[in-house]
Formats: sequence, C-alpha cells, structure tokens
Amino acid sequence: MPVISFENVTKVYPLPAGDVVALDGVDIAIEEGEFVLIMGPSGSGKSTLLNIMGSLDVPTSGEVTIAGRKISRMDDDDLTLLRRDHIGFVFQQFNLIPLLSVVENVEYPLILKGRQNGARKRAEEVLTAVGIAATHFSHKPGELSGGQQQRAAIARALVNDPDFLLCDEPTGNLDSKTGTAIMDLLSRMNREEGKTVVMVTHDIRMTEYADRTIHLEDGKVVA
Ligand code: ADP
Ligand code: ADP
Repeated sequence: MPVISFENVTKVYPLPAGDVVALDGVDIAIEEGEFVLIMGPSGSGKSTLLNIMGSLDVPTSGEVTIAGRKISRMDDDDLTLLRRDHIGFVFQQFNLIPLLSVVENVEYPLILKGRQNGARKRAEEVLTAVGIAATHFSHKPGELSGGQQQRAAIARALVNDPDFLLCDEPTGNLDSKTGTAIMDLLSRMNREEGKTVVMVTHDIRMTEYADRTIHLEDGKVVA
C-alpha cells in the first residue's frame, strides 16, 4: 500500500472574483522508500499539494490516504495526530524555536507526545546521525550556520521516526555547496534508513537525487 495516495483530488479556493482551481483531478501514489520531487511553475499547485500531503489542508473532492488512513474520515483532532505521529516536516526557513537549544528543539516532538523518558538520548542520537557535533547540542539555533540549522531541523523531523518526510524547498535558503550537503544527507536517510522523502523544489539539479519527479502545471500532473 502506498504511503501517500491521491485519487482524483481537486482543491478549489472560492474567491469573490471566481473560484481558483489549485488542484484539478490529481492522482498520485508514493510508495514506501521512494524519494520523490514535486516541481512546477509558480502557482501550479505545489504548496497546495504539500499542505494536503501534510494534513494541513483537506481536498474539496477526491480521496487522500496518508499512512493507511483516509483523511475524509478524519476530524481536525485526528489530522493533528496524523501530522504529529506520522509526518516529519522540513522547511526552507528551518522553523527552529529560537529560545530553545538545538537538542531541546529536537526532543520537543518527543516531549509533546509524552515520551520524556529517553527523549534527550534519542535527540542526541539523531543529531549525531545528521552530523551535528556534540559541542553544538546546547547552542541556540541562531549560533549555528544555516546548513547546521537545517541539519538540526532534519533531526527534529526524524526524531519521531515518521512514515515520511515532507520537505518544502529545504535548500532554498542555503548556498549551493551547503544545499548539496543537505541533499546528500536526505539522500542518505532515504537510501540507508529507507525513509520516504517528498520534496518541493525549483532546483532542477535535485532531480539526480530522486527516484522520480512529479511535474505540476495549472493544478494537473503533466509528467
Ligand atoms: P505553487 O506552490 O506551485 O506556487 P499554490 O499551491 O501556492 O502553487 O497555488 C495554486 C493556485 O491556488 C494559485 O492560483 C494560487 O493563487 C491559489 N491559492 C493558493 N492558496 C490559496 C488560498 N489560500 N486562497 C486562495 N487561492 C489560493
Ligand atoms: P537513526 O537515527 O540512527 O536512523 P533509527 O531512526 O533507526 O536510528 O532509530 C534508532 C533507535 O531509536 C531504534 O532502536 C528505534 O526503534 C528507536 N526510536 C525510533 N523512534 C523513537 C522515538 N520516537 N523515541 C525513542 N526511540 C525511538
């Protein structure tokens, strides 16, 4: 069974000037262990697609199944739990909490789940796995380079062992060398840990890392 499946998914934003069709009859199946890119011009529906995959938004029609659950049967609380327990998010702007240390940021998802026991040890393990030195664990995110902050953000996304990672332009805020290092890290998590990765990017160079690329245009999958 796919980790994420979309069947004839449509998303319409009703606006005073007329409806905007952001997704138009989209069919997608993402299998466990895949590394999939989502590309397309501005306004083609990439963010809308990612928001629905992340259970941050729901379709107007069609069926979406995430981690084996049909989201049409879920209320807001169910969607929050789905997000918390099954999905890791990685953003362009890192979205680390500035007042918490690096290790506190990474253990935060475990604390939210009431898994204080062993949380610090688990956070340190994952930070080490993504290449953050122990000397940096107690630093605030602002004291780290952009590449290190993104590594810490990836550690936070992985700490709960999610079913898949959703990455929104994860290298968009990094210079090209650092961006490559982050892609290498995500690729390693995919190949060595079997982590499913779905990534929105504008960067055509990223296609060499991916199993396949879904191209969107005007809310439709065109390739
Ligand atoms: P992309 O991420 O590829 O730029 P989006 O998913 O952001 O595309 O947008 C797809 C279409 O839906 C665009 O026409 C955009 O203007 C519209 N849209 C996106 N979000 C909203 C919203 N919250 N309300 C109204 N229209 C929206
Ligand atoms: P790595 O970060 O090295 O890839 P894994 O993600 O495979 O490691 O997990 C390492 C160990 O941590 C495994 O034994 C796994 O069962 C355990 N683990 C996974 N998720 C959690 C969690 N949320 N809290 C505590 N331990 C966990």
